[in-house]
Amino acid sequence: MLTGKIAVVTGAARGIGRAIALALAEEGAEVVINYHHSEERSMAVKEEIEARDGKAAVMQCDVSDYESCEKFVSAVAEMYGHIDIWVNNAGITKDQLLMRMSEEAFDEVIETNLKGTFQCMRFVSRIMVKQRCGRIINLSSVVGIAGNAGQVNYAASKAGVIGMTKSAAKELAGRGITVNAVAPGFIETEMTGVLSEKVQEQAKNQIPLGHFGTPEDVASAVVFLASEQAKYITGQVLQVDGGMVM
Ligand code: NAP
Repeated sequence: MLTGKIAVVTGAARGIGRAIALALAEEGAEVVINYHHSEERSMAVKEEIEARDGKAAVMQCDVSDYESCEKFVSAVAEMYGHIDIWVNNAGITKDQLLMRMSEEAFDEVIETNLKGTFQCMRFVSRIMVKQRCGRIINLSSVVGIAGNAGQVNYAASKAGVIGMTKSAAKELAGRGITVNAVAPGFIETEMTGVLSEKVQEQAKNQIPLGHFGTPEDVASAVVFLASEQAKYITGQVLQVDGGMVM
C-alpha cells in the first residue's frame, strides 16, 4: 500500500503515464498528474482517480525546459511538504533514418527524454536527500538496450536514461533513495499507434509472448518498484517487453 505517499508522474494525461497515475492512486498514493499540452485529458485522469475515492492534482510543466522543471518540483514540494515517488515518464519520438535525421529531430528527443529526466531528477533529489527517503523511477525502453533502425535519437536518449539511472542510484543510495528504470517493449499507446500495420506485424513476430503489452503491464512494474517490497532494489532496469529482448 502507498497510503500517505505523494507520487508525481510526468506526462500522465495519456498512455503509459495515465496508467501509472491510476495504478499508484489505486494503491493509495496521492498523485500529481503532469501534462505538457493535454490539459483536458489530464483533468479527465484526475476525475477518474477521484471517482474511485483517490486524491489527485494536475500541474503543467514542459520537462525539456530547465526553469519549468525547477518551478514544478518547488510547487509540488510547497503544496505537500514531501515528495515520495517521482516517475519520469514523459517522452517523445521523432523517427528517421540516421542519414536523413535532422539536427532538430535529434535535439528535441534528447531534450525531452534525456535532459527532461535529468532536470526532474536533479531538482527532486534535493528534496528526497533532505527527507532521507524517496523512489525515482525512469521510463527507458528496450530500444535503449538493443537499438532500433530509424531511432538513433530515441535509442540514445533511452540508453542515456539507463546510464543516468545507475549513476544516480549510486549517488543517492546512502540517503535512502532508490533509482530504477523500467524498459517497456512495444506497448499499445498513441506512440506505437502511429506505426504502420506492417511494422506492427513485424514487431509482434519478435515478441515471444506474441502480442503488444498494455499500459497497465508497465504500470504494475512501476507500482512494484515504488512499493515497500522493492526497498532493496536500486540501479536496476526492469524490462516489460513480452520477452522481446533477452
Ligand atoms: P504517449 O502516449 O505518446 O504519451 C507521451 C506523454 O509524454 C504525453 O502525456 C505527453 O504530454 C508527455 N510529454 C511529451 N513531451 C513532454 C514534455 N516536454 N513535458 C511534459 N510532458 C511531455 O507515450 P507512451 O507510449 O505513453 O510513452 C510513455 C513513456 O514510455 C515514454 O517515455 C516512452 O518513451 C516510453 N516507452 C513507450 C513505449 C511504447 O511502446 N509505447 C515503449 C518503450 C518506452 P502531453 O500529451 O500533455 O503533451
